[in-house]
Amino acid sequence: MAKKQFKAESKRLLDLMVNSIYTHKEIFLRELISNASDAIDKIYYKALTDESLTFDRDNYYIKIAADKHNRTLKISDTGIGMTKEELDDNLGVIAKSGSLNFKKQNDPHDDYDIIGQFGVGFYSAFMVADTVTVITKALGSEQGYEWKSTGADGYTIQPCEKEGVGTDVILSIKANTDDEDYGQYLEEYKLRSFIKKYSDFIRYPIKMDITQHRLKEGSKDEYEDVTEEQTVNSMVPIWKKNKAELSDADYENFYFERHYGFDKPLKYIHTSVDGVVSYNAILFIPERAPYDFYTKEYEKGLELYANGVLIMNRCADLVPDYFAFVRGIVDSQDLSLNISREMLQHDRQLQFIAKNIKTKIKGELESLLKNDREKYALFFNAFGRQLKYGIYSDFGSNKEMLADLLMFYSSKEKKLVTLQEYVSGMPEDQKHIYYASGESIERIEKLPQLELVSDKGYEVLYFTDDVDEFAVKMMVAYHDKAFKSVSGGDFELDEEQNTADANNEDNRALFDSIKEMLAEKVKDVRSSKRLKNYPVCLTNEGELTIEMEKVLKSMPDSPDIKAEKVLEINVNHAVFAALKDAFEKDKDKLRLYSELLYSQALLICGLPVEDPMAFTNNICKIMR
Ligand code: ADP
Repeated sequence: MAKKQFKAESKRLLDLMVNSIYTHKEIFLRELISNASDAIDKIYYKALTDESLTFDRDNYYIKIAADKHNRTLKISDTGIGMTKEELDDNLGVIAKSGSLNFKKQNDPHDDYDIIGQFGVGFYSAFMVADTVTVITKALGSEQGYEWKSTGADGYTIQPCEKEGVGTDVILSIKANTDDEDYGQYLEEYKLRSFIKKYSDFIRYPIKMDITQHRLKEGSKDEYEDVTEEQTVNSMVPIWKKNKAELSDADYENFYFERHYGFDKPLKYIHTSVDGVVSYNAILFIPERAPYDFYTKEYEKGLELYANGVLIMNRCADLVPDYFAFVRGIVDSQDLSLNISREMLQHDRQLQFIAKNIKTKIKGELESLLKNDREKYALFFNAFGRQLKYGIYSDFGSNKEMLADLLMFYSSKEKKLVTLQEYVSGMPEDQKHIYYASGESIERIEKLPQLELVSDKGYEVLYFTDDVDEFAVKMMVAYHDKAFKSVSGGDFELDEEQNTADANNEDNRALFDSIKEMLAEKVKDVRSSKRLKNYPVCLTNEGELTIEMEKVLKSMPDSPDIKAEKVLEINVNHAVFAALKDAFEKDKDKLRLYSELLYSQALLICGLPVEDPMAFTNNICKIMR
């Protein structure tokens, strides 16, 4: 039989698993049980919408059976099973788990960490087994199939006999080594404790044959081994438990078990509401953004249960887009089981829960900001961008909701500050909230536009996210203080404005001449009201800023719109004397200087010079 090869990505993960030195190898059991539970969920879910199916709880369970003699461990479920194609698709490639993508993005060196922190799914079986066999029969199909693999060298699939619908995963447990006791995964009491630890909240019974050494019936001194099938897990879902009974580790385990994230949760929220609508919810704020978070592929939503029964895996209506990072589960006894997805959107109970959850999350974030600044900064680094998108979208209707959760890097504090902090630190004569935009903090710090503002002792917020300027344009002001870009046409510092106006008068002819020489490129040429040591800078007139022009340019199918640029000249700079001189004596020279200064200004604000050849020729010209 021809062996099929794993897809390249999966092969790498397999290599990692097979050669893993990871210490918590036992999590393979959690992963396989979680897959089994998902497979039963799928039948359950199908039965909700398909009338030909009934779901009789008693027929659905997971069974764990160890065979010490043959050194095998079997995890069976009565779930939905897999067709031949599904076996090939699901087990031949890492399906949705995306762990490797995530790893590549984050830390390419940290090979072993991935196993501990991320949902690694089915492949984790290879940490403890040298052969893995999957025998499965899909719902609605007559034929069973056997998938078999010894690891990185590929897998085979062939037809086989299987009685009921469902899946058996059979692990041939590795031989013990000096450092590693694989035999423990065949020990009844060990398996029990792993199930209790990691999978207690699984909603379906996890059964095991438990052997007990007992007194023979009717005897006083004769013992016998009695084997009984027992359910090992308590099956009480974690969200229905009392908070006081649960530890941080329980919540973390639940987070992993439900595959909510690849990281540790930064914060969990367990809430029970009794009232007009009653519900329990466990919500998590992840520590890191999932690798696909800021892409279209990311699907927001919470798991939705009606009185313990899963209705929907990702109910998007439960969380607003700006809190899309929140994962978790909501269970309400007041929701109808048979509600369709279309109806759900308009369901008043659901809207009520969604509103409550939104307020709850906001409150928790605020208290995190207040009480644990370091953690909040971690959160903000991961998801601050999403909050800013939130301010910008929906025509700014959420700006009140979100403004106090924002943070920006401060020129004074050299760290993230809130708008509240900025405003309360403003000197009395400062009227506006100043910001400067650029690619990075280092780059912004060198912006000529900042010179005079900084001299005044005003704090400036540094905007490095592409969404920042769009967000504050939407906000307009915070606590009646307008946002002003240090590069904007409407930027003014009182005295400087007056001198600049006077200078403009005095040098009108020179500036007009430069403007004419630069033709379409600039809207105006003026004496600067913000420069001290630099000769020139570019600023913008109107709504569209230079940073926005860059953002728009970088988008696919970008519209060809440009910021209206103004070339500002520092009349106190030595270069200005040269300009004046050229204006009086040599117009060609003035043209040369003007073009050079304009190109410099472009470079300083991070825009490319329009004609690099002309630019270098010009430099050569003045050197000759
Ligand atoms: P994940 O569970 O994160 O999707 P896995 O590698 O654990 O990744 O599993 C890949 C896929 O294989 C699952 O999404 C599921 O479709 C399928 N699968 C795994 N185990 C079972 C099972 N016991 N029954 C049915 N399908 C399964």
